[in-house]
Amino acid sequence: MSNRANKLLIGNWKLNPTTFKEAKNLSQKVIKGAATLRNVEVVICPPTLYLQSLRSSYRGRKVSFGAQSFYPQSVGAHTGELSPTQLVDSKISHVIIGHSERRHLYGETDGQINAKIKTALTKNLRVIFCIGEQLEEREAGNTESVLKTQITNGLKDIKPSTHIVIAYEPVWAIGTGKTATPEMAQETHAYVRSVLKEIGFDADSTSILYGGSVKPDNVEGLLKCKDIDGGLVGGASLKAKDFLALCYAANNA
Ligand code: PGA
Repeated sequence: MSNRANKLLIGNWKLNPTTFKEAKNLSQKVIKGAATLRNVEVVICPPTLYLQSLRSSYRGRKVSFGAQSFYPQSVGAHTGELSPTQLVDSKISHVIIGHSERRHLYGETDGQINAKIKTALTKNLRVIFCIGEQLEEREAGNTESVLKTQITNGLKDIKPSTHIVIAYEPVWAIGTGKTATPEMAQETHAYVRSVLKEIGFDADSTSILYGGSVKPDNVEGLLKCKDIDGGLVGGASLKAKDFLALCYAANNA
């Protein structure tokens, strides 16, 4: 089945909130508010420490839980890491791979991202594969070549899979309050879809999310674009009211 049948909204909480109590409160509000959604899938990605507890206290099916990262091996001496087997055992269904903060703050390479995607797929995890150009790259006119390299290297030797969703996040828009205009985002999403086609993916049924300062006041314009299938949301996913406003906008898009 096409993973574009519904819009997809993913909340990436990063290191937030600071206490478990706040995390529980936030997830409960989102879960409650999501109960009436029809055409939207919602995924929340809390900090690893909170993940299992939040997931196990929720029995419904409207909201899924995802990890923000993981290590692509199930056993071994990897201090501080989280394994895909542990995610599956804890009923975590999604994982974010290749987020720009992982690439730029922790030096994650296309090769490592490719290994993670391969491992996640063998465990039947749903992959949110992030790509995006930096400001200098856009200003130098290199956006398309940067994205093409990230896609072809990240998906090297990977068979087309309905378990892969792409999240296009221009690095200059993440957490900065600067969003790509709907026109810019649409043009780039269409390009990403054309690259997926070129490498043999069923591009027309692959969801491509936009991320980077998505907020209640800009989401409608973005979701009207034909190649934008939802959002990967940081800051605005930390307030239940704002995140639910995005979900409702997606539900009505
Ligand atoms: P932002 O973060 O919505 O705060 O820009 C997006 C992300 O990092 O995925």
